[in-house]
Amino acid sequence: MNISFNKPPYTGNEEQYVLKSMRSDKISGNGEYTQKVEKWFEKELLCKKALLSTSCTHALEMAAILLDIKDGDEVIMPSYTFVSSANAFVLRGAKIVFVDIRPDTMNIDETKIEAAITHKTKVIVPVHYAGIACEMDTIMNIADRHKLFVVEDAAQGMMSTYKGKALGTIGHMGAYSFHETKNYTSAGEGGLLIINDDTFTEKAEIIREKGTNRALFFQGKVDKYSWVNIGSSYLLSDVSAAYLWGQLENTDTINSNRLASWNLYHNGLKELEEKGFFELPKVPAKTVHNGHIFYLKVKDLGTRTEILDYLKVQGINAIFHYVPLHSSEAGRKFARFNGDDIYTTKESNRLLRLPMYYALLKSEIDFVVKAIHDFYTYKEVSK
Ligand SMILES: *Cc1c(COP(=O)(O)O)cnc(C)c1O
Repeated sequence: MNISFNKPPYTGNEEQYVLKSMRSDKISGNGEYTQKVEKWFEKELLCKKALLSTSCTHALEMAAILLDIKDGDEVIMPSYTFVSSANAFVLRGAKIVFVDIRPDTMNIDETKIEAAITHKTKVIVPVHYAGIACEMDTIMNIADRHKLFVVEDAAQGMMSTYKGKALGTIGHMGAYSFHETKNYTSAGEGGLLIINDDTFTEKAEIIREKGTNRALFFQGKVDKYSWVNIGSSYLLSDVSAAYLWGQLENTDTINSNRLASWNLYHNGLKELEEKGFFELPKVPAKTVHNGHIFYLKVKDLGTRTEILDYLKVQGINAIFHYVPLHSSEAGRKFARFNGDDIYTTKESNRLLRLPMYYALLKSEIDFVVKAIHDFYTYKEVSK
């Protein structure tokens, strides 16, 4: 048995669209498939504007430029996240202020945000870890009261909801990732900037087109295009958009398959959770998740190393996840941790992720579940 940790999602529909795009006269950005994909998102997410980008990292960079982040501005986020959530704002000169996470969801602890706000704070970045929603009503209420912007890092959150609203559509902006490790991919790399406040739309298109008003020119709104603002090359190739289109036609299939795998793991492991060996992911009321990650939180770091080694010998590629950013070299330079680190380090040290991807077989999940049972049976016997 050799069970990969991840396989890029692939439904079989992608090829025909990629070929069609390749054989067209326009394979750079903003072609036929880009338009189709962006319209699909605008309709499904009920957002003001959806802009395909070269990655989620770049979508977050666009957000930081749009919000005019400058030297010394402060941005609040959890330390338990991917580097890009922070880096996008650090690139503009911001100082990152980390607050602790909630142990139940590994998401930012919304009750710790207000204490971290200073007169320099401009943005809150909730990260929906594992596609499980942050407590957005509380976060939006804090942002309203302090006149702050909210940029949702919903890289893992496509098809998830909070009180019926799609993740990424609740803050002023949101960002999705179509990297090969996410639930949907645009041929390996790609992202989406979701704009929920229409005042940002025109400027966003300028930033995505190297700081020019080229998009307005093609829409016939200006008679020549020129350099109007800072920007970069953030437009996704139409061939990549074509690949993603093949998956958007199958979102229900992909989503229900992942949820079925997630539920198989959960049912197979809940008995061991009840015995107190580890904790399984918690999904808060009024949120719907997308089966992006299935994790266990075992007793401690030592147990995690033991179980990862044990699974490896069985041919199972389980892995751990983020090293908290505040403990990293760049984190120490560009950020500070506000309040106490009660859960961030402790909970991240004991978290491990099991193989999870579209079309993972039931027989493979059964094998993983049995290996974990065996590991704990052996531990019990040898006590
Ligand atoms: C994957 C991920 C990103 C980065 O996505 P890219 O498309 O690879 O740039 C950012 N934030 C989080 C939380 C992620 O999981």
